[in-house]
Amino acid sequence: MAIQKTEGILLRRQDLRETSLILTFYTKDFGKIKGIVRGVRGPRSACGGANMEIFAHDEVVFYERRRSDIFTISQCDLLDYFAPARESLERLSYASYLVELLDSVTALGDKNEEAFDLLLNSLRLLSSCSPRRVARIFEIRLLHILGIMPTFGECANCAKEVGAGSRFSIRHGGLICKKCLDSDREARPIMQGTVNFIEHIRTLPFERVARIKVAAEVGVELERILRKFLDFHIERRLKTVEFLKKIA
Ligand SMILES: [Zn+2]
Repeated sequence: MAIQKTEGILLRRQDLRETSLILTFYTKDFGKIKGIVRGVRGPRSACGGANMEIFAHDEVVFYERRRSDIFTISQCDLLDYFAPARESLERLSYASYLVELLDSVTALGDKNEEAFDLLLNSLRLLSSCSPRRVARIFEIRLLHILGIMPTFGECANCAKEVGAGSRFSIRHGGLICKKCLDSDREARPIMQGTVNFIEHIRTLPFERVARIKVAAEVGVELERILRKFLDFHIERRLKTVEFLKKIA
């Protein structure tokens, strides 16, 4: 691989020996990549700069190393620091949640430009929109992009029309009809408002989703259902979720 240049958002940074860092970026052109940056820590340097802070948006230059899937990063120049998202602990925590969530559902090298755009737009939206709302929008659209979005049009078990008395099943990944309730005893009722909101977020252009009105009880139900659904698919506890619970 020759020298490559792309935009990326920093998902994670780990210390490596005395003076180096391993940075994990979600990039526009290569999906998730990991790379070593040398000489950025230690007594003579300021531990990288704003460009090496979590969720910084950088232009990244990197190249392949022999017998390793970890690249060498030779340059990362800051494009956006998302300063408004760093001004409150709540926004900062939500921004950190977005990157941890994306990190947890993607593998190295899986290119997905839609996922990159979603993260970038969501970080921008954090400056003007409630962080809780940004998190729900991010979750719904991410599930959609990854192809694991719950289905609401038909029964997730028998594919027939759902009708009255349907319930939401985490295991089946959507609504199940009255006849299929025995197939998942843990399925729970879900408000029509919640279903409508999810469908809106999934289908509307990104610049419109922030303005959709939502009832408080829908917000609460949505958060609970998405959390359960994501936990079911991710299988590992996200550190930021625990932290968000604490600061709530
Ligand atoms: Zn059914």
